[in-house]
Amino acid sequence: LDSCYSKGFISYKPMEIIIGWLYPKLMSTYGDRGNVITIQRRAQWRGYNVIVLPLDQESTAEDIKSVDVIVGGGAQDRQQEIVMRDLQGAKAEAVRDKIEHGTPGVFTCGSPQLLGNYYEPAFGQRIEGLGILDLVSVHPGENTKRCIGNLVIEVTASRLAQELEAMAGTKPYLVGFENHGGRTTLGKVEALGRVVYGLGNNGEDGTEGAFYQNAIATYSHGPLLPKNPIVADWLIQTALKLKYQQEIKLSPLEDTLAMQGREAILKRLKVNLPS
Ligand code: GLN
Repeated sequence: LDSCYSKGFISYKPMEIIIGWLYPKLMSTYGDRGNVITIQRRAQWRGYNVIVLPLDQESTAEDIKSVDVIVGGGAQDRQQEIVMRDLQGAKAEAVRDKIEHGTPGVFTCGSPQLLGNYYEPAFGQRIEGLGILDLVSVHPGENTKRCIGNLVIEVTASRLAQELEAMAGTKPYLVGFENHGGRTTLGKVEALGRVVYGLGNNGEDGTEGAFYQNAIATYSHGPLLPKNPIVADWLIQTALKLKYQQEIKLSPLEDTLAMQGREAILKRLKVNLPS
């Protein structure tokens, strides 16, 4: 296709978005692959070219540097440990550099635990994290209850909340599903939101997730993006804006089914959100 563009057979080259998918072989336990598919399809439906680049153990720091948006899913403790043994040196620096320079991303459950300072699993040694997000996560032991169930949050991270509200025209509430043993405590990092229903970071302080630069960290599986398409659009818009250095306005999509799904969940949970 590239040679067709360069030879002038095709005059219009659509914008392209490269989705970097962190460790799909090791970190796909909780269905977060749906986040990758949602970004991919919503970008393609608007005519953008999309490449999904798996960032597994075989990948290099150069691969990581090439991506425009990063998706990291949940994993079990054992797999998290393997990932952290691999995510060292130049690869770790590439992830850090991307996030620090505003590459947007959505990191769910096990992934934010690894982007934080450390994760202490129920068994075994503390797993040192990348320290990009100032947070720590501790599993209180196998005899404690896991945090499992539906999760509804109000986005409170100020810039993100403003940008989502500007795109959707309504206050941003996210619907998801949490399933984690680890409890997260935030340091000097903004929470993604406040818990309206469910447990969130630790079941105690009412915070959920974290937001840093353009990285969204959350305990919400679901997966998150099909239930909250506005967040997928924010990721696409932010990625394209950064890559092409111009304002991007995405064309609207038909989201009635997704909205009906959200309404059904909220109704079942008896959560009334202000309109
Ligand atoms: N292993 C981590 C925990 O139980 C992450 C789980 C997940 O990614 N859903 O806290």
